[in-house]
Amino acid sequence: MHELSITQSILNIALSSAENEHAKKINKIKITLGEMTGCVPQYIQEYFDIVSEGTIAHGAKLEFDSIPASAKCLDCGAETRLIRFRFRCEHCGSQKLKIVSGREFLVDSIDIDD
Ligand SMILES: [Zn+2]
Repeated sequence: MHELSITQSILNIALSSAENEHAKKINKIKITLGEMTGCVPQYIQEYFDIVSEGTIAHGAKLEFDSIPASAKCLDCGAETRLIRFRFRCEHCGSQKLKIVSGREFLVDSIDIDD
């Protein structure tokens, strides 16, 4: 996933929930982002400032909650942390891993003025 498409989704989600609340301005957006998405929060904020231009979300601050990438080893069953996409079980060295977390992307909450 690329930052720009993620940013566009964040904006769409935030705007439609703000509309439901009849908000006048969006101040803050909380986002959960998994490490496996490979997205850099700083870039998302920069894109956001551009794509939100002219909307009630312009100027909103994005807050990120990062979810570490982890996988379960299919050979020994251990759960292993994936550091910088090093795809190997820390316990037995197997490369047969199933990703269990780190692909998350969701908008948790938005802070609005109504
Ligand atoms: Zn293993």
